[in-house]
Amino acid sequence: MRGFLFSDMDIRGVHIRLDKSMQTLLQQHDYPPAVSSLLSQLFIASALLSANLKLQGRLSVQVRGDGPLEYAMAECRLEQPGTLEPLSLKGLARHAPDVSDDLDLHALLGKGQLVITIEPDEGQRYQGIVGLDRETLAECLEGYFYQSEQLPTHLQLAMGGNQAAGFMVQRLPTRVSDEEQADEDWELIHALVTTLTPAELLALPAEQVLHRLFHEHDLQVFAERPVRYQCDCSRERSAHAIVALGQAEVEEVLQELERVVIDCQFCNSQYAFDKVDCHMLFSPGSASKGEQEILH
Ligand SMILES: [Zn+2]
Repeated sequence: MRGFLFSDMDIRGVHIRLDKSMQTLLQQHDYPPAVSSLLSQLFIASALLSANLKLQGRLSVQVRGDGPLEYAMAECRLEQPGTLEPLSLKGLARHAPDVSDDLDLHALLGKGQLVITIEPDEGQRYQGIVGLDRETLAECLEGYFYQSEQLPTHLQLAMGGNQAAGFMVQRLPTRVSDEEQADEDWELIHALVTTLTPAELLALPAEQVLHRLFHEHDLQVFAERPVRYQCDCSRERSAHAIVALGQAEVEEVLQELERVVIDCQFCNSQYAFDKVDCHMLFSPGSASKGEQEILH
């Protein structure tokens, strides 16, 4: 993923192209093609929306509705703002047993909503919700930016095979006093970016996309920021989930099944805790010992 800023205009942008991580993300689940395609767009969207956030935490983009696709969500984890720490993506969808291949956003979700959630590790959680009342997910996201931040935004998402790519330009609050000039700048750049085809976006690396569109302009291009697939589930987090269930409930499961298994819905990992493991989790005074065992 690569961000850029126009030197003489109040406009910034981001480019992203994923192949390997997209493959890993989609191979986790056997989704119908229409669901996979929308999920790919959500992955790209969550990374694009995270690009300009200066915080440590998570951003998720979710669509939900009353159609054959109940919901789909992608989450982007951000570490240490101001560094080139990779962004980590994960996501999932829940859908009816039969989803035909040719369904678009509205046929998939029916009457639906787009939900953007920003959750800093420390500080206030923010949630923005807009109706899915435009034709494509990209257009709905443009609407979200306009509604929530009054920032005119152009956003393009493209999928093909196991690849997905995205491109976003955004007008910044005007630094200069000349609003008229800023309007003209935005119109010019907007006209340029709408000439970028989905095929070009999928095929070309960031440098070539930027050169193709903006070779007549002065751009500051930032260093590449890696984006990877990584689920943040762990045995330790699963142990916390078991403790949160409460001892009575856990005892009940153990009597029936001999062990408690925590499934990660994102990556399908399983974490099993037998009677001894569970006993350790609930023993007074042995919590820290239990924790050490778990961390092994
Ligand atoms: Zn996981």
